[in-house]
Amino acid sequence: MLKDLAADRHAQVDTRRRNLGALLRRVHLGGAASRVELADWLGVNRSTVMALTADLAAAGLVREVPATTSGRAGRPSFVVRPESEAVHVLAFDIAVDRLVAARVDLGGTVSARLEATRARAGADLDAVVSVLADFGRALHHDAPPTSVCVGIGASYCGMIRPGDGMVRFGPDLGWVDQAFGAELARRLDLGLPVLVGNEAHLGAMAEHRRGAGVGAQNLIYLHGDVGVGGGIIVGGDLLDGDGGYGSEVGHMLVNPYRGRPCGCGSRGCLEAEVGERALLDEAGRPADHRGREAVRAVVVAAEQGDAAAREALRRIGDWLGIGVANLINLFNPGVVIFGGTLREVFPGTAAQQVRNRIAANVLPVSRDKAHLRVSALGYDATLIGAAELAFTPLLTNPLAPRP
Ligand SMILES: [Zn+2]
Repeated sequence: MLKDLAADRHAQVDTRRRNLGALLRRVHLGGAASRVELADWLGVNRSTVMALTADLAAAGLVREVPATTSGRAGRPSFVVRPESEAVHVLAFDIAVDRLVAARVDLGGTVSARLEATRARAGADLDAVVSVLADFGRALHHDAPPTSVCVGIGASYCGMIRPGDGMVRFGPDLGWVDQAFGAELARRLDLGLPVLVGNEAHLGAMAEHRRGAGVGAQNLIYLHGDVGVGGGIIVGGDLLDGDGGYGSEVGHMLVNPYRGRPCGCGSRGCLEAEVGERALLDEAGRPADHRGREAVRAVVVAAEQGDAAAREALRRIGDWLGIGVANLINLFNPGVVIFGGTLREVFPGTAAQQVRNRIAANVLPVSRDKAHLRVSALGYDATLIGAAELAFTPLLTNPLAPRP
C-alpha cells in the first residue's frame, strides 16, 4: 500500500515536471499564449495550467500579462509570456573561419552578439578559447543586472563527444581529442558547464524548432561550410548514433573510383564532390580564394552568365542530387533543408540538378513527399542551435535548482 502511494507520488512529480517543461517550451518557441491555448496544447484543464503558470512565474520564468487586444469588453484576457528580460543563455559558434558569441534570451531573441573572423591556419585550442572566453565575459558583464544566465552552448565544426564537449575529430581546424567544452567552461568561470554539439546537428535542431523545418517530424538538414555536415531528425528527435557521431552525410560515399580526395582521408565522399573546394576548383577560382564570399561570387557569376561558374554549379548540383536521393530513399523525410553555404549554392542551376536526380533515383512513394527548402535561419542556424542546446536543461526540468 505504502509502496503504491510512493509510486503514485513519483508519477505525479514526473507528470508535473513534464508539463512544466512543455509549457515553458511552448512559450519559449511559440511566444505568448493564452491559458486556453496552453490547456489545449498540454491536454490538461485550465486550473492545471493556472497552477503550472503560477509555479513557473514564482521561479521567474514566465509572466502573465494583459493580451494586447482582448477582443471584447469586460474582464481583460491574459497571456503567458516568457520572462525574456530575466533569463538568458550564452551561445557560441565555432566555424572554420569565424567565431561568434551571443546572448540569447528566453524566447529566442539574440539580444547581443560579438563576432571575429580569423585565418584558417594555426587555430589552436588556447587561441580559440581565449577569444570566445573574452566574448563570453563581455556579454555576461553587459547583461541586464536582473537577467540570469541559465546555460551555455557551443556549436563546433567537427565530431563532438556529447558528455563532456570533447572535440574528437575536427579536421577543418586540425583538432583531435581537444577538451574544448571543459576548457571554455573553465575560462568563462560562470559555474555552468558548456554543452557542445556538432554544427550540422545543431543547425538541424534550430531549423526544426524555429526555421524551415517547423512542423516537420522527419527532416534532413545539410550544412555547407568547407565540407558538408548533416543533421537528421527522425520522429522529432536528432539521430546522432551510439556515440553522438552519426548523421555524417558529408562522408557518404558517392564517387569511390574517380572521386576527389576528402579531408577525412577517404576519396569520393559527398563533401569532397560538393564542398567549397570542389565548387571553386570547378569554377576555375584561384586556390587562395576561399570562404563564404568566394562561394557567393561563383553563384553571382553564374547568374550573370559565366559559363564556368554555371557548369561548376551544374556538376555540384548533380553530386548533391545523388546524395539527397540516397538520403530520401533511406529516411523518407518531409523536408530537406539546405543551409550554410549550400543556401547560396542550392537555388537555380544546382536545384534543377537535384530535382532531376530525385525524379530519376528516388522511389516514387517517397519522392512526392520530400519538400526542398533553403535554411530560414541562414548562417545563424548553428548559433541558434547552440542556444537551444543551452536551454535544454531548463526546458527539461524548469524548477531544478540552478547553480
Ligand atoms: Zn570524407
